[in-house]
Amino acid sequence: MNRFEWLDASSVAQAADAAAGAAAGAAVPKAGGIDLLDLMKEGLLAPRRVVNLRAVPELGRIAEEAGGGMSIGATATLAQLAAHLLIRARYRALSEAAANSASPQIRNVATIGGNLLQRPRCWYFRSREHHCVRKGGPACFAFAGENQYHAIFAHNGCAIVHPSTPATALVAFNASVELAAVGGRKRVVALENFFLLPEQDIEHENDLKPGEILTAVLLPRQQGTRSAHLRQGELDSFDWPIADVAVVLDMAGDACRRASVVLGAAAPVPYRAKQAESALAGKRMTDDVVRAAARAALAGAMPLSRNAYKLPVFEALVRRAVLAAAKGG
Ligand SMILES: Cc1cc2nc3c(=O)[nH]c(=O)nc-3n(C[C@H](O)[C@H](O)[C@H](O)COP(=O)(O)OP(=O)(O)OC[C@H]3O[C@@H](n4cnc5c(N)ncnc54)[C@H](O)[C@@H]3O)c2cc1C
Repeated sequence: MNRFEWLDASSVAQAADAAAGAAAGAAVPKAGGIDLLDLMKEGLLAPRRVVNLRAVPELGRIAEEAGGGMSIGATATLAQLAAHLLIRARYRALSEAAANSASPQIRNVATIGGNLLQRPRCWYFRSREHHCVRKGGPACFAFAGENQYHAIFAHNGCAIVHPSTPATALVAFNASVELAAVGGRKRVVALENFFLLPEQDIEHENDLKPGEILTAVLLPRQQGTRSAHLRQGELDSFDWPIADVAVVLDMAGDACRRASVVLGAAAPVPYRAKQAESALAGKRMTDDVVRAAARAALAGAMPLSRNAYKLPVFEALVRRAVLAAAKGG
């Protein structure tokens, strides 16, 4: 690892100035540091300056907003999200997704901002020996290689899956991210648009501009929605899931007005299963309807040579997550 300068930022403005005041990639923000240190040890990042965000008070705030939504500061930890009473009451799928991520030790340190911005776990991307397309190389080696943990949807040119489990739930709730840049400039972007498909940008998973700081995740107000998040691991361990699903149902009695069904570990971005959503909208939650929606979630799937096992896993998870959400959460 190269030597680097350490800077403890005490405000968002100072963090944005410090992150912007160097060439792209030369200064990087650090939140929990879990992925950042891996990237530095793996030789994928060699910043000259590390800007510590943990001491910026406003970034740790979790609060209810005036309109009934919630704002979650970027350095709130996954453990805090999992335990927060209001999040558990109104955004159950999010608290479940946070609790379903990693191990207790990691959840106590990992922040929601860093979690959304972590780089993919694809072993070709992480390996120094493979100059893959996401690192500016000639090809995605997963297509002809070891692709059992890779994407089954939308893998146009690169077959990574998005690594964030909470992102699955956040997209299902139509969350946005607030981003701050030098000079006090701010923008808010719907999370679904913030994440980028390979055909939009094959080297970046999101639209964070150099020098920008993710300051908060914004959750819209929920009224009458019920939700659930389920994950399936390869083992019953703390590793990233091989499949996860978030469902948010807007219910009127036992009928569904509107449904949000999002698949994680399925595509390079959290993947909205639009045909499953249509199969649920306007229907009573009968067994047949739920089964049909679970099958519809797989419409357009393009499994690779070693990951067709994900199809029945997702079908079962969608069915169970819809039933769990409908039961009340
Ligand atoms: C064994 C293991 C199991 C895991 N399992 C899961 C899992 O099941 N699900 C899951 O979702 N994750 C899992 N993870 C990943 C872990 O949750 C992430 O590494 C962690 O959430 C990253 O958060 P952090 O705060 O440590 O980010 P950091 O490592 O500090 O930062 C990550 C990246 O984001 C940038 N960054 C951080 N914060 C900001 C900000 N506010 N603005 C701009 N840039 C920023 C950093 O520069 C860096 O590039 C696992 C990790 C391990 C080691």
